[in-house]
Amino acid sequence: MALLSVIVPCYNEEENVKYFFDELMKNQPFFEEKKLDVEIIYVDDGSKDRTVAEVKKLGESADNVHLISFSRNFGKEAGIYAGFQKAKGDYVVMMDADLQDPPSLLPEMFSYIEQGYDSVATRRVSRKGEPPIRSFFARMFYKIMNRISQADIVDGARDYRLMTRQVVDAILSMCEYNRFSKGIFGWVGYETKWLEYENVERVHGETKWNFWKLFLYSIEGITAFSTAPLAIASFIGVLFCAIAFVAIIFIIVRTLIWGDPVGGWPSLVCIICLVSGVQLLCLGIVGQYLSKTYMEVKQRPIYLVKEEF
Ligand code: UDP
Ligand code: MG
Repeated sequence: MALLSVIVPCYNEEENVKYFFDELMKNQPFFEEKKLDVEIIYVDDGSKDRTVAEVKKLGESADNVHLISFSRNFGKEAGIYAGFQKAKGDYVVMMDADLQDPPSLLPEMFSYIEQGYDSVATRRVSRKGEPPIRSFFARMFYKIMNRISQADIVDGARDYRLMTRQVVDAILSMCEYNRFSKGIFGWVGYETKWLEYENVERVHGETKWNFWKLFLYSIEGITAFSTAPLAIASFIGVLFCAIAFVAIIFIIVRTLIWGDPVGGWPSLVCIICLVSGVQLLCLGIVGQYLSKTYMEVKQRPIYLVKEEF
């Protein structure tokens, strides 16, 4: 028998714990046909509701249910990493607790693994039920990201992925603190099959993401997988030097020909404002990388466990 580990990051998902389990187990005939043992690892990301109690209750009746409970909210990325570390499966799949990643897709995903793919990923083709402004910025992010980074990041990609032990070990070998999973999956490579499906809305509760959080997350993604902003900062510096050089020549020549009337201070103020703005912007970019490096250098644990079984 091969073992399939299902990782479910949960943050305030009390209504979904049992519901998810039932939905997943609807695949029982498929698991039996393929001789798959299944273990389900719920990663409780410091929930403030009854998520842990629900998982424990479930664990009493099903011995293939496991729990890792964090000491506080560490974010979904930390949850995924913890799940990977605990998973013993020959195959590992990650799914959201809110059933936005339909478990009914599993048999199809598995068939591609059997065909020899190392990893099967999913992307949603529509962004139905999402505010248009958010969709717009999301698309922009993916466009920019793919231009400036080597990791191949697919628009609309979800974290719903099935992968072989080899891929899981590759991901575990990336023990960085600032984890941007979409980038990590793309970065490790391997043969990946993409499946597409229509966006499904969550069954219970509401999304933990708002616009601001997504914005910060996108900055995280860019700094984690690209150094292009640093190059852009240097380029702007060179450009401004060149402009200043031309301007100096122009001023000198003009003064020699027409003398030096004291004027033009408004333009001077504008130039100072512009240049200092650009300087601060570039300093900020450097600062972003420095702060990420700082967090990385501290080598703090990615998550802390309160209890597990
Ligand atoms: N999640 C988590 N920690 C967090 C936020 C979210 O573990 O800090 C989990 C959440 O319980 C869910 C999954 O990550 O299973 C996706 O979250 P959500 O549905 O809020 O995101 P969306 O589907 O809207 O992108
Ligand atoms: Mg969701």
